[in-house]
Amino acid sequence: MKTRKFVLSEKEMPEHWYNITASMTNKPLPPLHPGTLQPIGPEALAPLFPMELIKQEVTSEKWVEIPDEVRDLYAIWRPTPLYRAYELEKVLDTPAKIYYKYEGVSPAGSHKPNTAIPQAYYNKQEGVKRITTETGAGQWGSALSFACQHFGIECEVYMVKVSYDSKPYRKLMMNTWGAKVHSSPTNHTQAGRSILDMDPNSPGSLGIAISEAIERAASDEHTKYALGSVLNHVLLHQTIVGQEAVKQMEMAGDMPDIVVAPFGGGSNFAGISFPFLRLNLEEGKHIRCIAAEPASCPKLTRGVFRYDFGDTVGMTPLLPMYTLGHNFVPAPIHAGGLRYHGAGVIVSQLLKDKLIEARSHDQLECFQAGVLFAKAEGIIPAPEASHAIATVIQEAIAAKISGESKTILFNLCGHGHFDMQSYEDYFANKLVKHEVTAEDIADSLSKLTTPEIA
Ligand SMILES: *Cc1c(COP(=O)(O)O)cnc(C)c1O
Repeated sequence: MKTRKFVLSEKEMPEHWYNITASMTNKPLPPLHPGTLQPIGPEALAPLFPMELIKQEVTSEKWVEIPDEVRDLYAIWRPTPLYRAYELEKVLDTPAKIYYKYEGVSPAGSHKPNTAIPQAYYNKQEGVKRITTETGAGQWGSALSFACQHFGIECEVYMVKVSYDSKPYRKLMMNTWGAKVHSSPTNHTQAGRSILDMDPNSPGSLGIAISEAIERAASDEHTKYALGSVLNHVLLHQTIVGQEAVKQMEMAGDMPDIVVAPFGGGSNFAGISFPFLRLNLEEGKHIRCIAAEPASCPKLTRGVFRYDFGDTVGMTPLLPMYTLGHNFVPAPIHAGGLRYHGAGVIVSQLLKDKLIEARSHDQLECFQAGVLFAKAEGIIPAPEASHAIATVIQEAIAAKISGESKTILFNLCGHGHFDMQSYEDYFANKLVKHEVTAEDIADSLSKLTTPEIA
């Protein structure tokens, strides 16, 4: 019998998260205060985040210990399985060996609880009563609701309007775990009202929802804010995924030539790729790591590397990153988790230094890839995850043409069980090929007044 699934025991779960900045020659540039344009110190983040997470945000330690209580909760679904995709290989008739790490086995159905659990844990340790957040596709809101419920913290979620309307069951999941969910933009915040004044029918965006959630947290001392991607500590927590995958690839007697993950803000990409990049940075390996983003929101492939705000209204520090401009409102594509104008600072620096690659895919190509995968392997991917599958298919076909046997690993970062509306739209031919125009990007970037990077 073929071995399809590589499984680790609970005891083999990693005991540390991996901080890639310790291995990088060019460290990421510091965040700047938007008023003074001086590097901000950790204390500037104190109104929004608990101290322990701020420490992790700036740490130079290579290995950060995972608290026992967090590992204990991780064990509800971790270690996650790694599969060899024999059926996909057969359908593609490729000499490439394809593996995937499956994060959809978590209670929320994606990789997001890997950071939601430790974030809620550190907030609880520091006596926080309520956490606000944003959610796009609903995956992050679900994950944080689940984590807050465990620790007895109230959770308030600003859900991007298009998703709120199209994904009622995601909202109900959050409600089941005890969270309050608002359709963003709301009229409860100044940020939301300012957007509604300009466009009463705004479909919302992650940038807007972030502004709303931050405003709420900043105005109440018992309330903190949590972000599901982009920030260093979030990427750090996700590295448990890739560390497990390194061990599982060893079990399979293989090593990837190519690692692929979908890219929204960079957390699942970082999660799977950083432990493999460590082998490049420290052991001279040459594993290609490719981030797959939507053609409708292509910050890595068509954005600029400069300082920009992480949110739409301009409440965050300025972050040195690839961005389409904080005013950019992506088309309401179904991959809600990828509708973000910017990218994590660490991932941006890695791309700038050409240590990783990026590629974009149109939504039709992604759904084709997702359906092909579901038919072959059984698991129905989240629309976000189908971006990685689109890249994998291109690489598998390239291997067929060149006759080279490549080993490809990707992160199947979530299932699509709550995204079936998007599949219905795809089957009904309601989805159109969509790519943002050069004018739209130029227009959004022309509004940036934030400092350029030499
Ligand atoms: C949130 C999410 C993403 C995008 O965010 P990253 O931080 O880039 O991982 C991608 N896929 C799924 C399933 C998500 O929930």
